[in-house]
Amino acid sequence: PRPLSSWAQNISPSPTLAVDAKAKALLAAGEDVLNFAAGEPDFDTPEHIKEACIAALKSGKTKYAPTPGIEPLRQAVAERYAAEYGLKVASSQVVVSPGGKFSCYLAIMATCSPGDEVIIPAPYWVSYPEMVKLAGATPKVVLADDTTGFLLTPAMLEAAITPKTKLVVLNSPSNPSGAVYSRAQLEALVAVAVKHNLYILSDEMYEHLVYDGATPTCVAALSKEAEARTIIVAGFSKTYAMTGWRLGTLVAPAPIAKACAEIQSQQSSNATTFAQYGALAALKEKEKTAAALKEMMTAFDRRRKFLHAELIKIPGVTCVLSQGAFYLFPNISSFGLKDQEFCAKLLEQEKVAAVFGSAFGAEGYLRLSYATSDEILAKGVARLAKFCASLK
Ligand code: PLP
Repeated sequence: PRPLSSWAQNISPSPTLAVDAKAKALLAAGEDVLNFAAGEPDFDTPEHIKEACIAALKSGKTKYAPTPGIEPLRQAVAERYAAEYGLKVASSQVVVSPGGKFSCYLAIMATCSPGDEVIIPAPYWVSYPEMVKLAGATPKVVLADDTTGFLLTPAMLEAAITPKTKLVVLNSPSNPSGAVYSRAQLEALVAVAVKHNLYILSDEMYEHLVYDGATPTCVAALSKEAEARTIIVAGFSKTYAMTGWRLGTLVAPAPIAKACAEIQSQQSSNATTFAQYGALAALKEKEKTAAALKEMMTAFDRRRKFLHAELIKIPGVTCVLSQGAFYLFPNISSFGLKDQEFCAKLLEQEKVAAVFGSAFGAEGYLRLSYATSDEILAKGVARLAKFCASLK
């Protein structure tokens, strides 16, 4: 047979989905696996959101919808940015897509051409470099390790910029490190992007999952200059436990939003119509949604503190207590194993599934998701401690 395309040959499949799938397959085969690899809340979607979707389905919302989303949802998204961040956008600047992942892809496809460079701070969410490659552009990875709390500094950004740089990706709170940038830190990064006339993809997927009184920052709301160059990606998956619904949003200056909608019109058409009515309820029935989120956040925060406290007791492990998302990213470089080997052995010997840091562009770390039960966390971290002791 003739060779497959250069796209097919150059793509790296998602390692996080692969590790999670392997853990789930072992579980299904009856193995006692403790899964720390999942990038999704262990909670179910709140009832009122499901009910709204069921009602929409029953009332015949089963047809194509406008490509960029049903108008009431686009309006509700616009209203939410005004209410939460004072950012005034028109509903025409909102695109509802089949997942935050697809929103990121649209943002990259709308701004990057072959030959352009995209700056991606590492540790990064696994899909950014692959999406940049799919657009024919070149990822430029800049590592911000635990010595800076996984935060890119303006000097690091400045040093990575070349005349070809078109876009910089920011992701706060971060997957995989959980790091949250302060408003001042983001302002300083935006100033560099403005100086060099870069677009900004601000992936704010975990904006509502912040702890210790940290506040999320909407990058586009920082200034008029920020707004003019920023594409905000957000969604429903993580905040409202809706990963399987496949819905995401993006908000951008009108010409970029229009380009994203046009690309979507040729790639997927609209996101599932009746699912959008569920998302609408998530935004409109504010009290019920806030109560459900509060319950999840209480559990996440308890688990975050517990997991961190246990991790730093393990000789040889260090760990930043990050303030966002539902991940910790402990440093395991002292054990003298490559992180991929560390994870493979951890799964084999102790039946604990975690994703290796190098999947996120940062060798020497593990990504542990604490979006799992207290019981699994306690057992899993005990097994991890046993495994680490066996390596010493
Ligand atoms: N952005 C980040 C940083 C993520 O971690 C994820 C999910 O893992 C997404 C975007 C995409 O979310 P979804 O496509 O499930 O809405």
